[in-house]
Order: sequence, then structure tokens, then C-alpha cells
Amino acid sequence: MPLDPKRTVSELRELRDLTADHNGAQRVAWTETWLKAREWFQAKLESLPVEQHLDAAGNRWVTLPGASPEALLLGGHLDSVPNGGWLDGSLGVLSSLEVLRRFASEFNGRPPITIRLVDWADEEGARFGRSLFGSSAFAGTHSIEADRGRKDKDGISLEEVLRECGIDMEHIGDAASERKNASAYLELHIEQGPVLEQMGLPLAAVLGTKGVERHAITFFGQEAHSGSTPMAVRRDALAAAAKLALEIRPIAARHKDAVSTIGSVKTFPGIVTAVVGRCEATLDQRDLEPAVLAAMHRETIEASERFAREEGCTVTWSRIWNIEPIPFHPELIQLCREAISEVASHKVPNEIPCLPSGPLHDAAEVSRAGIPTVMMFVQSLGGISHNKIEDTKEEYIELSVAAFDRLAMKTVAWIQNRGQ
Ligand SMILES: [Zn+2]
Repeated sequence: MPLDPKRTVSELRELRDLTADHNGAQRVAWTETWLKAREWFQAKLESLPVEQHLDAAGNRWVTLPGASPEALLLGGHLDSVPNGGWLDGSLGVLSSLEVLRRFASEFNGRPPITIRLVDWADEEGARFGRSLFGSSAFAGTHSIEADRGRKDKDGISLEEVLRECGIDMEHIGDAASERKNASAYLELHIEQGPVLEQMGLPLAAVLGTKGVERHAITFFGQEAHSGSTPMAVRRDALAAAAKLALEIRPIAARHKDAVSTIGSVKTFPGIVTAVVGRCEATLDQRDLEPAVLAAMHRETIEASERFAREEGCTVTWSRIWNIEPIPFHPELIQLCREAISEVASHKVPNEIPCLPSGPLHDAAEVSRAGIPTVMMFVQSLGGISHNKIEDTKEEYIELSVAAFDRLAMKTVAWIQNRGQ
């Protein structure tokens, strides 16, 4: 049975029909619809010579044992955000399934090394605000303390929901045992951004996931009456924040792939008749290079202090969250580029594009655990994701499955050569 990328497209459609309503995909982790999607997926495995189980964090592992216990991991996530798209995550799982089938049939059920498919549990963190749940347990970066108190918007605790799904929060770290014999991890994902479409290209190798610096910035000025306070003497906290909101553009533009966002601004007292005395803003900055991220952060602090002075205000910073950039494996990036050029040579130039990923992915956690990792991106139409209009040309989905399969073959050879 050769690789059949058209089957992947039709299975993605089947899954969409099963789990979407008129607002989009509703496969939010730890809900009935998600469990239904997982059951549907399990039924797809029946005729395959595989072993499957859930690990201690709820990740589903499907193993096709090979001549060697060394394992190539392939994966994605069946969970979605509420009102999500039909490809985010599920393309990774269903393309991996197709590749697994190809290995099973080509090698009569026993490939040279072990092939394992993983459906990560709760990549999106949509219900409890904890992204990369299953993959971080696998990677050993998970902290139970932070998760113990998590509740959804109806006040139901994560711990309770996990228990209903047969998962004991105290033991989710045991998922780390799945790392045994893991030699490499590959993930195919939609880009979720507009870059490949702008370049007119179907596929790219992913260099890694960008590091993130997330901060709360507060400007303090003086609340004052909007009628009686002359313009020249105002200490307007919003004016300082507004200057910063524009300045982050040239700061980011000094660095090639850097992005910087002020996503929220609150003013106090926040009434129509008062100069703003306090302004709270949030900042999210991302880049693949630690030095670039640090420079952008420093330049933004300096700018905020300058604008505070200009407006007679003061400014304070406090870190909300950060994560370092996570580069993927250079040799696997190269294999990914070769796979793309071999399968899609008619569609791509000589120089196969490499992109950093702005969003985080399960692959970042796997890479953090020290397992050689790479991702492949396929173009997203309009760059839209986490939305029911998320889409990719069918022709490109098929091409991506073929290129991903080629990458899997190359990686098996790479693992075998490395072991010699
Ligand atoms: Zn995803």
C-alpha cells in the first residue's frame, strides 16, 4: 500500500464533519468532542500491526515495532481551540498516520527501526490556559504546582477533569518514560501565518520556535481634570504608552524576523473627563535569536524610560512570562529542506525556505528534552488560523504529506547511520 496523501485529506474532512459545528472545530481538550475525535482516530488503527496506549499525561502513543528499538517519533495534536480550524494539529496526526501505514506496508509490518506516532494531549491549553500540557510532561518541564489550582471558566478544576479522563495529576511526570529510545521527532503543521503565501511557496523547513519575553509595563502620571489642566503641565500616562506603542515598530524592524506587540492597554481612572493617571500595557516580544530578543527588550525599556521622562511620568516593568528560543536540529533541518526540494521541486526555488515559528508547538518541548527535532510548515491561506476559515490548498496538503513522508524516510536513514 503506497503513501496515499489524498486519504489524509479525506480523513481530515471526516474529522471536521465529526467534530465541527457552524462556528468551526470544537475539539477542545478534555471535552466529549475531543474524546470522540480520539475514539474516531483509534478506530483508524484497527487493521494496523501496532500497539497503542495512553501515557500518564494522556498522550496517545501508537507504536509500530521495528527491527531496532530506536524510535522515530511523528506527531501532532487532535485538540483544537473553540471555533478552531480543520488543520491545526490534526494535519500532524493524520499525516503521521499515513506515513506509519506506508512504513507498515513497505516493510511487512517490521521497519528497520521503530516508528511511533503521538497525539499530544491538550496542545492548545484552550480550556485551562495551560498550553503544551502533554508534551511538557513528556519533556519533564511540567510543573504540577502551577497546575493544581487551574480551573476553567465554569470553576471546574483541571485536576477533576483529568481524573475523569483517567489521569492522576500527581503522576503526569511519568510520561517522561516515553522518551526511552526516542531518536528523533518530526511534526508537520500549517504555518498559521502569511509568509509562505507571500513568497508563493507551499512548504518550508522550520528553524525552531521563537523565544518569548512577555511583560507588564505601567506608566504613572497624574490624574487631573480634563477641563482645568492646561496641556503644557499634564502628566499623561497614556501619552507615554502611546509613544511606546508606535516605537516598538522601528525597534522590531531593526531585527529581521523579530516581532513585538502591545496587546492590551488599560487606562485609569478611565473616564472621559480625566487625564490618564496610570496606564497598564502588556508587551509580547519574540525572536529566534537570544541576543536579538535581549537587545529588543533592552531597547524597549530604554524607549519607555525616555517617553516617561518626556511626559513627566515614571514607568515600571514586571515580567509576566518568558521562554528561551528553541532551535531545531541543524542536520534534521537540512534533511527537511532536501525532502521539500525532492518532492516539490516544480514548486520551489533552488533555495528552500527556512522559517522560524512564532507560535510555540509541542515540537519545542520535545526539542527541549534533547531529542533531535524538526518541523515542516505548509502554507496557510490568508495566514489565518484558530478560526473556522483556516484553510490550505488541497494540492498543498497532499504535497506536504508526500514531503513529510520523504523526510521520515531520510530521518530513519540518518538514525541508522548515526548508530554505526
Ligand atoms: Zn497546532
